[in-house]
Amino acid sequence: MKISQVDVYQVDLPYSGGIYRLSGGREYANFDATIVRLTSDTGLTGFGESTPFGATYVAAHALGVRAGIAEITPAILGLDPRRVDRVYDVMDGALVGHGHAKTAIDVACWDLFGKAVGMPVCDLLGGRTLQPMGVISSVYAGTPEAMRKRVQAHRLQGYRGHSIKIGEDPQLDAERVMACLADRQAGEYFLVDANGGLTVETALRFLRLLPRHADIVLEAPCATWREHMSLRRRTDIPMVWDELANNDASVAQLISEDGAEGVGLKISKNGGLTPCRRQRDMCISAGYSLSVQDTVGSDIAFAAIAHLGQTIPAHLLRCILDTRDMVTITTADATDKGAFKRHDGWVTAPETPGLGIEPRMEVLGEPVMTYCL
Ligand SMILES: [Mg+2]
Repeated sequence: MKISQVDVYQVDLPYSGGIYRLSGGREYANFDATIVRLTSDTGLTGFGESTPFGATYVAAHALGVRAGIAEITPAILGLDPRRVDRVYDVMDGALVGHGHAKTAIDVACWDLFGKAVGMPVCDLLGGRTLQPMGVISSVYAGTPEAMRKRVQAHRLQGYRGHSIKIGEDPQLDAERVMACLADRQAGEYFLVDANGGLTVETALRFLRLLPRHADIVLEAPCATWREHMSLRRRTDIPMVWDELANNDASVAQLISEDGAEGVGLKISKNGGLTPCRRQRDMCISAGYSLSVQDTVGSDIAFAAIAHLGQTIPAHLLRCILDTRDMVTITTADATDKGAFKRHDGWVTAPETPGLGIEPRMEVLGEPVMTYCL
């Protein structure tokens, strides 16, 4: 089997909640998605998506995704998409880094691989667990009362995990967290995510304003590795890393330095399913908890999240992010009607081959770039 054609599509994905606010005055109203269709010489097709969270979240941006794909694609035409590691080697040989650009191609290879052998991607990634996956909300920063209401709205939809965004004044951040915890239900999980917006000083002040035993996990408090490790030495708060754990090397170093209790694996931030598979295994070996997410994205990105999440043992999987809730556009339907549906907040990866999706070609429109063998 050979990759014989690569089509690249661009879709604008408006944020479903109006304007999303992160620490440091960052705002997002719309996300620029890149979707890749790989066609093989057998006629089978595979799809993948890479949608950066604007240009100010991690070192990724939408034009960079498409420029990276333009750089890589001539090298992958003619390769066997089922040999996912070998395709990735060739992508690395054509372009250093830029995992977000490699992601859409890599995920499309996994989709093709699954369709070629008649198996769902989660089974190719090691095999599905029998446990349905809980979803986590993404509660953007605002007034404490508004954030409490956003948690409640998600709770009513069955969300059991909540990611609370902070990263400004320590007093305001502490009030936000306590407001969000106020109506806590049994079994709920609260991540407090600063997206690198705190200094060690403001992080320590914030933590001292919380009740001593507030049951939270602190995510990505600071922007740099040094600050994280400094904060780590001064507090016993459980910590998970996100933005700074973005490739094999950083995940290995994080584990070796005992820098965290867990990692947020985001498919495009961490370079696609092929590197995420390795990083998943490193984290499982270390006993880390994992949440499986993407920076943002539509149905195609969510399909990859669901398949990877479905392979993580239940005691280590905290939650997955349902990116579909963050955008107003539907780019694909489930191959099997009803697959990918949430039931009281729980979701399971489908049994159908590949990612188990049927993209809506009328939404994808005409390709912005096409390459042929
Ligand atoms: Mg995060």
